[in-house]
Amino acid sequence: MSFNVIFFGPPAAGKGTQAKIIETKYGLKQLSTGDMLRAQIAEGTTLGKQAKEIMDAGKLVSDEIVIGMIADNMEKNPQAKGFIFDGFPRTNTQAQALDTMLKERGEKINLVLELQVDDEALLERIKKRAIEEGRSDDTVDAMKVRLEQYRDYSAVVLPYYQAQEAVITIDGMRPVEEVTMQVEAILADDIAA
Ligand code: ADP
Repeated sequence: MSFNVIFFGPPAAGKGTQAKIIETKYGLKQLSTGDMLRAQIAEGTTLGKQAKEIMDAGKLVSDEIVIGMIADNMEKNPQAKGFIFDGFPRTNTQAQALDTMLKERGEKINLVLELQVDDEALLERIKKRAIEEGRSDDTVDAMKVRLEQYRDYSAVVLPYYQAQEAVITIDGMRPVEEVTMQVEAILADDIAA
């Protein structure tokens, strides 16, 4: 039995943090399109060079690129009991492509965990992360665009999964450990079901 979950939420909501905490515990593999793109930039690939400008502006990289990266990484991890999709899907095309890829494996999205954090707290987190990690898209200007983009794509992607009754919303304003407890309680229920 496989289990596939999407961690959904605005930039700096804590998706990556939570995904990394739970991935080993449940044998799930985290697939973060943001991490994959940053790896391409670090390696100096053509794809990375194309993506960097778009990412620094806070815009979305093309569907073709991110869908291709996800497909490659799903293939590379046949042993995973399932995947934690982090930062993907962000468009209707991506959501449909993901459904098709999972269907080919006889699988589906079992759960979408929506992390809710208000804009003010997100801006504070981004400022802190800018100092700690030096990500070139963690600027106030790029963040404004990323939050606008989030508003737009969440209005498309969430209803897609709400129609499948797959979405559970949790409070991402709580401290990391408390959010983890909420995530684990839901996963324990859902994986057992
Ligand atoms: P955050 O969750 O903090 O916004 P990510 O690391 O998920 O950061 O993404 C950083 C950037 O990478 C995005 O602003 C976007 O430019 C690009 N990106 C990541 N995932 C996708 C995706 N699924 N579709 C399009 N662009 C993406």
